[in-house]
Amino acid sequence: MSDLLILGGTTEARMLCAQVHLMGIDATVSLAGVTSRPETLPIKTRNGGFGGVDGLCSWLEMHRTKALIDATHPFATKMPTNAEAACARLGLPRLRLVRPGFARVAGWSSAPNLEAALLSLQPDQNVLLTTGKNDLGGVAQRPDLRILIRTIEPIEDLPSHARNLLIRPPLNWEAEIDMLAQHEIDVLIAKDSGGVTAPKLDAANALGVRVILIDRPPQPPGPIVTTVDEAVAWLPREVAIGT
Ligand code: NAP
Repeated sequence: MSDLLILGGTTEARMLCAQVHLMGIDATVSLAGVTSRPETLPIKTRNGGFGGVDGLCSWLEMHRTKALIDATHPFATKMPTNAEAACARLGLPRLRLVRPGFARVAGWSSAPNLEAALLSLQPDQNVLLTTGKNDLGGVAQRPDLRILIRTIEPIEDLPSHARNLLIRPPLNWEAEIDMLAQHEIDVLIAKDSGGVTAPKLDAANALGVRVILIDRPPQPPGPIVTTVDEAVAWLPREVAIGT
């Protein structure tokens, strides 16, 4: 049994888990299982993919789940689409919780994807990517740049003009300043992940490093909120009071 399924992997999901735990809601959080040190959360936790829409439907039916909150990352694409399809098939209430994008600062630019961002750059620049290990589109096409790719998990088989820097975030502002200065970074390419603070962006601004933000992917249709309080307020009555 699990009245509520939370699809996690974000700060907002962590905060929501804490909140539903305090409310005594029978909830499970699901993590993709992609990091080697998964988080410890105060509610039932499962790890790993469901096996597509069919697998998710089976899980929801088996656990007699009454509602789903999709609090995956703003750049997650498959899981939100699968959640939308599974909940539509089963007639389950579903909510997307996704934090707002970064407040824009004059001088920043944006690009639809990493490849477009890299192709827009002049040669001979030191570029820092914080866009993750999964999409390295355009890296191979720019041997005239020096590209530093910051990730939590290692990347194999990079071309010689690209290097992998392993870091476990979050870094504070001072650490971000040191990193940008030490590697003489000219351009920072980051996802428009959003969040209350972004020390890497503040540090880039302070040092005059150019910032390019990758646009978010479109979200599946359906209700979207941006805060944990709104997500809690959305909970169907039978989930909130456990009937
Ligand atoms: P994705 O493209 O939406 O998902 C790929 C597959 O991973 C899904 O089809 C699903 O497998 C499985 N999956 C994803 N999230 C899951 C979850 N919470 N519980 C169980 N299975 C999950 O997602 P992604 O971009 O690879 O991200 C994976 C996870 O890392 C997400 O939970 C996301 O919140 C987190 N994350 C992503 C980013 C990013 O930039 N994309 C950044 C930080 C954190 P099945 O089809 O087998 O169910």
